[in-house]
Amino acid sequence: MASSTDEATASASPAQGYAVGLDVGGTKILGVLVGPDGSVEGTLRLPTRWGPEGVVSSAAEAVTGLLDAAGVPVERLTSVGVGVPGLVDPASGGVQHAVNLGIDAETFLLASLLSEHLGGVPVSVDNDLNVAALGAASVTGGDVDLAFLALGTGLAAGIVLGGELRRGVSGAAGEIGHIPVDPRGPLCACGQRGCLETYASGTALGARWPSQHGRPAPAELFEAAAGGDERAVLVKNEFVTAVAAAIRLLVLSYDVEHVVLGGGVSILGAPLLDAVAVALEEQASSSPFLASLEIADRVRLCPTDVPVAAVGAALAGRRKVSKWKL
Ligand SMILES: [Zn+2]
Repeated sequence: MASSTDEATASASPAQGYAVGLDVGGTKILGVLVGPDGSVEGTLRLPTRWGPEGVVSSAAEAVTGLLDAAGVPVERLTSVGVGVPGLVDPASGGVQHAVNLGIDAETFLLASLLSEHLGGVPVSVDNDLNVAALGAASVTGGDVDLAFLALGTGLAAGIVLGGELRRGVSGAAGEIGHIPVDPRGPLCACGQRGCLETYASGTALGARWPSQHGRPAPAELFEAAAGGDERAVLVKNEFVTAVAAAIRLLVLSYDVEHVVLGGGVSILGAPLLDAVAVALEEQASSSPFLASLEIADRVRLCPTDVPVAAVGAALAGRRKVSKWKL
């Protein structure tokens, strides 16, 4: 069923028009203006205001801010794409349970409300992980098979195959954090025991190695391990082994060319990538089959010089109105 935003039309065709992508997080909105040729022509960062009205008005402010800074009239804006944390119905653009945005169980029709604010420009809304996966695929080369693995509060992946996002029939594709790996493991928030997320997420790391010096727990853990602290070495090894297991699972499920590490823990950068590569090579050392897949060579860090989720949101919005390929 087409939503009201699908039916809205802008005066310029998508091929000539501009697209805006917004990555709406709990504290800030990152926005990009994408030109007719697909290049990023402007970026913007604004604080997010909470609650349904706050989210709509701050998102609208981000869109007009991007257009004004580039001197682009709103008539040339053909689509807006938004990525948000929480449960999203991409068909209706409705959002629920975005706790970090002050949005509760009641469905909040972000797409249609933002479209109204912008004079009827079509707006698409998707989960932030999905738009990050699409953005990572775009900056990696477009028509690729890729998994974007977010190591954050939870553990989940966005799956792009042949350059197209795969959500699955109920939107659960890539929810690998809730695959149980130990029936005697800790109870997970989902109700199962020993879920991969209870070992490989930023939350799991922080529980085993809480921040003691006011810096992010992953940085403190990796530094303590590098300094020779035996317990830190153990906790770090258990964590990276679990992350490597998640990567192996994604490659064995989807045979993706790239696994891109994102989320808060990925800010560790090269030390994380190196440690994960060692763990993957150890896992493959007894298996010629695993070794032949060269999994460690497929792992990348999410680029930090490009607002990947905002770029992906712009692409998702543009595709919704034009069915453009990457
Ligand atoms: Zn679970």
